[in-house]
Amino acid sequence: MIAGSWPRLGTSASFVSRSIRQPVLPVPKITISGMALTFSLLSFSNLPFSAHFFYLYFMLSFLKRSSDSLLNLFFPDLCAGCNEPLSRGEEILCIRCIFELPETGFHLLKDNPVAQIFTGRVPLSAATACYYFHKNAAIQHIIHRFKYHHRKDVAVYMGRKMGDMLRQSTDFSDVDTIIPIPLHAIKRQLRGYNQSDLLCKGIAEVMHVPVWYDGLRRVIPTETQTKKSRPERWQNVKDAFEVLHPEMISGKHLLLVDDVVTTGATLEACANVLLQIPRVKVSLVALAKADH
Ligand SMILES: [Zn+2]
Repeated sequence: MIAGSWPRLGTSASFVSRSIRQPVLPVPKITISGMALTFSLLSFSNLPFSAHFFYLYFMLSFLKRSSDSLLNLFFPDLCAGCNEPLSRGEEILCIRCIFELPETGFHLLKDNPVAQIFTGRVPLSAATACYYFHKNAAIQHIIHRFKYHHRKDVAVYMGRKMGDMLRQSTDFSDVDTIIPIPLHAIKRQLRGYNQSDLLCKGIAEVMHVPVWYDGLRRVIPTETQTKKSRPERWQNVKDAFEVLHPEMISGKHLLLVDDVVTTGATLEACANVLLQIPRVKVSLVALAKADH
């Protein structure tokens, strides 16, 4: 059982004798016993009416701080990269993981290893991935959190970091529309969300560019790509996508967004469909680049 009470506020005389009718701030008593929280207010009516608002504000702030710190004591937020408890002021990732994430720097290099994946396959304006994908490392844990453990906030957070990087590059400064790589409707229904939508949301918050959700559709439910060879991956996705209302993005610079780029088959299939629209430019960004 945890019990606590506020110290009285006001002058010492005010609670020595109440006969002088000085306003006495009441004493709320907070008692947590098991799952029950009992909160009692005393002498609330003794306050002048104008003080009620400030009193309630102060009281609610205190309750929120108390409940947050108590919740944090028993259920601390954990770093999405290393699973260690986050310190005060840290959000999603601990400082150590933030500094140790393996940034590629590809966004500052036009002819980078991700752009080279697509050379001779599809004419992209620019292509990059923000981090190297390493197995059993923080970046893999982060992707698993938002892909398989419903941590949507992790995906939006990483999207913001992607946006911060893209803003440093002139290759992406004229992007008009951000487009997530779609999941098939059935897979999306099962997962409850599309992780690429959430990465796009984070990028859009930083770059101030609209996201075109649901404009690109996956019409064939493709099998997972992870155990397929490069030709098998291409066969798996080459006719899987269609564009709804292509006139809406005619003449625009489009930025395709995916979580991981490996052989690039999915991104290539999407880019090919989009490049059939008159006067579009297509660029792409993945959160991480994995080896084949
Ligand atoms: Zn960490």
